Amino acid sequence: MYGLFCGQPARAAEGASMRYGNVLFFVGVLASASAVNDAGAQPQAVPPEFLVGLDGSPAALARENDVADQWQLRRFKDSSELRAAENAGVLVPICPHGSIVIADDIGSLDMASRDVYQFARPWVAWFLDDLVADPSFPKGATFKVTSLVRSEAYQALLLKVSLTAASGTTPQRRSSHLTGSTVDITTKDMPEPLKAWMRRALVDLERRGLVQATEEKWGALCFHIMVFPAYQKGTVSCSAACRK
Ligand SMILES: [Zn+2]
Repeated sequence: MYGLFCGQPARAAEGASMRYGNVLFFVGVLASASAVNDAGAQPQAVPPEFLVGLDGSPAALARENDVADQWQLRRFKDSSELRAAENAGVLVPICPHGSIVIADDIGSLDMASRDVYQFARPWVAWFLDDLVADPSFPKGATFKVTSLVRSEAYQALLLKVSLTAASGTTPQRRSSHLTGSTVDITTKDMPEPLKAWMRRALVDLERRGLVQATEEKWGALCFHIMVFPAYQKGTVSCSAACRK
């Protein structure tokens, strides 16, 4: 599958197979969620089906935008809006600790404000913490976060150097990084046992209606993961079903 999501300079793959017809039932997680969206309202009903699998597709990106719209998540326009959101606690810093490494080139296309890009929504921070705290997380493993929140202005800069960044040419093709709900974890040099565990965990979380994830296998090598606002702190990352 070609890359639509992650923002590393890369060559688009050709002839990759596309699969986005896997539809499973919706488990009603959003309907019972207690997280509060930017408008202070609960989301509208979520479609009864969602995509499960890591292949990525225009439909997967559209779903990310649908979820952002249902939760009325703001898309940040520029570094000033990011800084204001960070000062207000709407976005929280994502810091290296334990098994989590943060790439040192995050925000490097906007050196004057690069510090504002190492932030994300609180539920992204919970998701990352829960991943590495899961009892089945491979012992001693580490992973590197390569992208977090972006502004529309930053995405425009990225499009000049990346063939894989979401174009935003239609509302359904906007990058979910603009909402601060999305994290990229590089798969470059990731040990196979960790990669295999991450795949199982992410598909499991997709089935539970908590994330939409894509494994970028061409160009930008990463897991691109939109964490939904319904995600609750302390969620088991890899359920019993996932560990089988
Ligand atoms: Zn991404």
